[in-house]
Amino acid sequence: EAKREGRNRAASFSWLFKERFNRIHEIETGLRRAIEGQELRLVFQPIVDLERMHIDACEALLRWEHPILGMIPPSEFIPIAEGMGMIEEITSWVLRNACLAAASWPSDARVAVNISPASLKSAELPGSVIAALLESGLPARRLELEVTESIFLDDSGQANAILLELQRIGLRLALDDFGTGYSSLSYLRSYRFDTLKVDQSFMAGVSANAEDRAIVRAIGALARDLAMDTVAEGIETVDQLEHARDAGFTNVQGYLFSRPVPGDVVTALIAHGALAPIQEPPPLNHSR
Ligand code: C2E
Ligand code: MG
Ligand code: MG
Ligand code: MG
Repeated sequence: EAKREGRNRAASFSWLFKERFNRIHEIETGLRRAIEGQELRLVFQPIVDLERMHIDACEALLRWEHPILGMIPPSEFIPIAEGMGMIEEITSWVLRNACLAAASWPSDARVAVNISPASLKSAELPGSVIAALLESGLPARRLELEVTESIFLDDSGQANAILLELQRIGLRLALDDFGTGYSSLSYLRSYRFDTLKVDQSFMAGVSANAEDRAIVRAIGALARDLAMDTVAEGIETVDQLEHARDAGFTNVQGYLFSRPVPGDVVTALIAHGALAPIQEPPPLNHSR
C-alpha cells in the first residue's frame, strides 16, 4: 500500500514537473513570436500628485495575451525572457512604445518604464533609450526609468556606469519596490534618484500595523529631506491614501484611482486632468 502511494506520488510529481516544463517551454517559444506579432501590449496606470490630485505620470506595464495560455503576467515571463537573453529586445520594444504613447498625450505627464536588472547591465540600454526618444520626439525629462534595489547586489560597477550615462541624457530615475529587497541607505547617497516608490506591501499594512505605519512615515521623512518625490504604490483604500498623505508622500498610485488601462483610456484620463479616488475599485479584469 505504502509502496503504491509512493509510486503515485512520484508519478504525480513527474506529471507536475512536466506541466511546469511544458509551460516554460511554451513561454520560451511563444516569446519570440509575441515580440514580432501583435501579442504584446502596454497598459498605463496613472500616478497622481497628492497636492493637486492631478496625473503627474503614468507607469507603462507590459501585457502578453498568449493565444493558448491566455494572459501571462509580466512577473512570470520577464524572468524567463532574462534567462533566454531576450530582455534587451523586450526592453527596447517597451521603451519605444511607451515613448510613442506619451508623445501623443494631451499634457506633459511623464511615462515611467520598468527596467529589469539584466537590462541595466547591458551596454545596449542607453542606445535603446536614445532611439526611443528620437523616434517619438519625447523630451528626455518626460521619461522615467524604474529600477529595483537588486541592481546593486552584484556590484560590478556596470550598472552604476549605465545609470550615470542615463542621467546625463536627462531622464529621471526611480527606485521601485523600495524596502523589499536589500535596502541599504548608502545607495541613496551615491545615486541621485528622483523618485522613491515605496513597495505596496508596506501600504497594504498601514491600516492594521503600527510597524508598517512607522516605516512608511520614516521613508516619507527621509525622501523629503533628500528632496526626492515619493510614490506610495498599491493604494486601494481611502485609509491608505490618508496614511500616504500623513507620511508626506508626494504621489500615489493604485486601484483607488485607476487600474492599469489601455492607451486610449489613459489618454482620456489625462485629458480630464484631475483624478478623484473611486470608492469601490471595479472588479479585477485580467485582460487589462
Ligand atoms: P511594479 O513595477 O512594482 O508594478 C506595479 C504592479 O502593481 C503592477 O502589476 C500593477 O498592476 C500592480 N498594482 C497597481 N496598483 C495596485 C493596487 O492598488 N493593488 C494591487 N494589488 N496591485 C496594484 P503588474 O502589471 O502585474 O506588474 C508586476 C511587475 O512586473 C511590475 O511591478 C514590474 O516589476 C514588472 N513589469 C511590468 N511591466 C514590465 C516591463 O515592461 N518591463 C519589465 N522589466 N518589468 C515589467
Ligand atoms: Mg514599477
Ligand atoms: Mg513597484
Ligand atoms: Mg511593486
